[in-house]
Amino acid sequence: MMKSKKGKKILIIPKRIVTADWSNTIIKNQAVEIVDDKIYSFVPVNQIQKQNYDEVYDARNLTLIPGFIQTHVHLSQTLFRGLAEDLPLLEWLRLKIFPFENAHNNESLKVTAQLSINELLMGGTTTFLDMGTLRYGEVVLQEMIDSGIRGFSGKCLIDINDLYLEFKSSTNEEINEIRNLAQNYHNTGDGRIKYSFSPRFVLSCTEELLKETKEIMKDFPGSIYHTHSSESVDEINEVRKRFHKENIEYFNSIGVLDDHTVLAHCVHTSENEKKLLKNKNTRIAHCPSANMKLGSGIAPIQQYLKEGISVTLGSDGAPCNNNLSIFNEMRLASLIQKPIHGTKVMDAQTIFRMATIDGAKALHIDKEVGSIEIGKKADLVLIDLDTHSNSYSDLDESIYSDIVFSSTTENVRSVMVDGRWIVKERDSLVYDQREIISKGKEELKNLLKRL
Ligand SMILES: [Zn+2]
Repeated sequence: MMKSKKGKKILIIPKRIVTADWSNTIIKNQAVEIVDDKIYSFVPVNQIQKQNYDEVYDARNLTLIPGFIQTHVHLSQTLFRGLAEDLPLLEWLRLKIFPFENAHNNESLKVTAQLSINELLMGGTTTFLDMGTLRYGEVVLQEMIDSGIRGFSGKCLIDINDLYLEFKSSTNEEINEIRNLAQNYHNTGDGRIKYSFSPRFVLSCTEELLKETKEIMKDFPGSIYHTHSSESVDEINEVRKRFHKENIEYFNSIGVLDDHTVLAHCVHTSENEKKLLKNKNTRIAHCPSANMKLGSGIAPIQQYLKEGISVTLGSDGAPCNNNLSIFNEMRLASLIQKPIHGTKVMDAQTIFRMATIDGAKALHIDKEVGSIEIGKKADLVLIDLDTHSNSYSDLDESIYSDIVFSSTTENVRSVMVDGRWIVKERDSLVYDQREIISKGKEELKNLLKRL
């Protein structure tokens, strides 16, 4: 991606600004001034001097919100959407996902990364934490750099695999490779790209690999330890059989839980595990669609929030969702808790924060992104809330429910990351839509022949 010239000034004039700052300020009659990659100031609409800017985007029909942040996705799996239906987690991995991921080559991985990043950006997601796959980790990281998106990715670590024998590597190879990848990619792309150390889950990693990875991570400040935990009953039964401990108790016993660890799912956790999550300040990535589709269960999110445990949202992989839409996850995350805990819980504002500023906090990038505040990076989304399926009220009280319950990715009009437009008026400035879809179809055909 081309670097923009130094001192480039863009002015966006929106209908209103939903900031997601500490007091949930909603700003009206103000434009946002962006200089290079940052939000520089708010300018009263009646004091705008258009000649001062390289670009003035008059978006008085659109609402400006922070870019969404997804804390658990699988770019490598997007190509397999629709090919792994109606199975529970371990069967889904054994029969479909591990064989598919094992058949990736450079080309198929590149196009699945492109399709994923495109879908995420077109849907308003500007930052993600990706689980990666076993091989060719550099392909995904390079595509992230080239696309202009912000995010974390890394090689997915697997050194034991009873579910699919071919899909693994040796402990030593894994350790050498992640050190190299982290050295080459952590803090690249003008700081947009960070490395995430990604053991797949307890059942696919030796204790040595889990521990050594946490050690290596110390050499890369700002990186994340990203794994799956306590997703399905079959999985935790197997963990109990092997280690005589609950999943999160096991992670704690080997010293990998802290505030830079993100655990996807945490559907089935004991009271002691909840205490550990709280005491260690470990982050949970909640993926309600995937939990429902794989029949895993409903995570005790209300309890986690009550305890002050960090909960953020991710769409997980396309084959267990089957979308990468943050809007689906926001809506479901709220709705599935209400029949259990009553209508007061998981209000739209809480959910909106989970998908923006709380996501940034979980990944320790909240000084840079997650809200619209002066000095922060310009990761911004313009959303149209004047469609047939949105609220007819312009009152502030309906704004969050309008985004969380009434909107879909179709409402997203323009997306900026790091001060650069990536989607403008529903057109991607990075990817040719038809080209990546036809490339995706072709590479999927080739991949299926390699099974
Ligand atoms: Zn996952």
